[in-house]
Amino acid sequence: MKVRFWGTRGSIPISLTAAQTRAKLVAALHLAIEHGLNRREDVEAFVDSRLPFEISGTFGGHSSCVQLESEGADHVFMDFGSGARPLAGDYLQRHAPNEPQTYHVFMSHLHWDHIMGFPFFTPVYIPGNRIIIHTCHAQAEQAFRTQQSPPCFPVPFDALSAHIEFDLLQPDQRYDIAGYGVQALKQLHSGDSYGWRFERHGKAMVYSTDSEHKLGDQAALDRFVEFFADADLVVFDAMYSLVDAISVRADWGHSSNLMGIELCQAAKARRLCLFHHEPANDDAKIAQVLAQSRQLESIYREAAALEVSTAYDGLEIAL
Ligand SMILES: [Zn+2]
Ligand SMILES: [Zn+2]
Repeated sequence: MKVRFWGTRGSIPISLTAAQTRAKLVAALHLAIEHGLNRREDVEAFVDSRLPFEISGTFGGHSSCVQLESEGADHVFMDFGSGARPLAGDYLQRHAPNEPQTYHVFMSHLHWDHIMGFPFFTPVYIPGNRIIIHTCHAQAEQAFRTQQSPPCFPVPFDALSAHIEFDLLQPDQRYDIAGYGVQALKQLHSGDSYGWRFERHGKAMVYSTDSEHKLGDQAALDRFVEFFADADLVVFDAMYSLVDAISVRADWGHSSNLMGIELCQAAKARRLCLFHHEPANDDAKIAQVLAQSRQLESIYREAAALEVSTAYDGLEIAL
């Protein structure tokens, strides 16, 4: 099982500005001077080994879209954020338009940042393709249709050439879909959201975004510990710091890095990936949150280490 991130930003897509790109270049050149870099053939190794990721790369700016890849013909991903557009490009490079494909898409919820990529997911325009949208929201079809209604978008939903189905699922039930054991859990978020747990060949990954956790609600926390139990990877909404999550941004429907660590440690999960980054946070800030998260994980650790990483557009994690 391989997890590939195409969109990792919360609420709205963002991109690097010219000033931010320039600042990265200046920082990189300063480090190159400090390290005495003076041979062309050393440049790539220098970039890969000496520059921190927040200078050499970027955590990316597309909104939520995460692909799950295994052997098997059908394609699986979560959420139609703006990351669904580059994902479509990748699928089209690998499959000719005359080879019909089946796509299974699992929706956390219907907020705009999680459906905005749908009209730009090119396979919806290709006859013969089958797109199955798995959701626990009865209003899912209405949300997708409304997004493509005039005056918001030029192509109406009914003009899409692919066969598009909405599959209404119930939380807390186990389904077998596209070769995965799949289960949804209702989460605290405006209009509700659902986390998804996928299991295959003894591996488990959980996608839990747009989900708030209340420190005092032990019964709810226990449900998540059970849902995350022994997962090889938990992709977790860590949009805010803990302080913000329990004070100024309480009831905004999101969670924190510290809550992710606590739940994953209690669940004995192996890896936590921080996700749905706050759009106001630049690369330096996200790198700082990751470093703090790793420190906190080691402070609170009671059993085996939890590997903490942070998602970026293009990250791949093999399970
Ligand atoms: Zn969101
Ligand atoms: Zn949301």
